[in-house]
Amino acid sequence: MEPTRAVLKCYASQWMRMVVQHWWSRKPPVSRGFWAFSWPPRLPCIKSATSAMSRSTLRSSCTYSLRSFCVTSQSRLCWRCQAEMSRAELFCPTCTSLQPPDESKDFFQVLDCEKSFNVDTQELQRKYRNLQRLLHPDFFSQKSESERNISEKQSTVVNKAYKTLLSPLKRGVYLLSLNGITLKEGADDEVDTQFLFDILELNEQLNDAETKDDIEEVGHFVQEQLVSLTKDLRKAFQQGDLQEAKILLAKMKYFSNIQDQVKKKIIP
Ligand SMILES: [Zn+2]
Repeated sequence: MEPTRAVLKCYASQWMRMVVQHWWSRKPPVSRGFWAFSWPPRLPCIKSATSAMSRSTLRSSCTYSLRSFCVTSQSRLCWRCQAEMSRAELFCPTCTSLQPPDESKDFFQVLDCEKSFNVDTQELQRKYRNLQRLLHPDFFSQKSESERNISEKQSTVVNKAYKTLLSPLKRGVYLLSLNGITLKEGADDEVDTQFLFDILELNEQLNDAETKDDIEEVGHFVQEQLVSLTKDLRKAFQQGDLQEAKILLAKMKYFSNIQDQVKKKIIP
């Protein structure tokens, strides 16, 4: 129902109730003044705005209901004061409360970055540090338990978003998932047999490596492969070739696993 019509309808029904009550009890209908009793009118979506509620509570409930009619996909209501605010804002501009994580946002939106594989990592880092500063636990030590919990949840989301978008492999896999494509663990069917043989050989070379130089040789080779694959991946995403991106990401996963083993072997 249209807000104005809803207000008028509730207003009229309240007036009718008051008249009936007066007729029934033979008592003066307005005991606390006309406005205190009848304004604001109760809207259908307000949960039991009883006469025991104070005038200010009634007024804020009415404001909430009217605002809920206007909330769009770009806005939401503050959990504390119910003020309508932009989804882009972390803190309510009216009561300054930190808002809970917005589940409709993807990681690019969480860190306010362009949804692209070509993310500017320096900008990403700057935005992450800025958010980290705003969500620092020291700011919330004197706040309510609810707000402390919200700050912890926000920090978790921001950290996860940063870790995902910083790594080219994780960023690529995440971008694919946003496009409805999942890269399975051990995605053997995405790569050719020759590639799998090469990986097997590289694994053997690493297992047999006894000196630091031998381990580092494998490490350098893997790093070079990852740089080259990242370059190809950037191109695939630019061209919108998601199938090619999936194959490249599957290869990157294999090299990334060997890179982890190299690190473990160098620093046991
Ligand atoms: Zn607020």
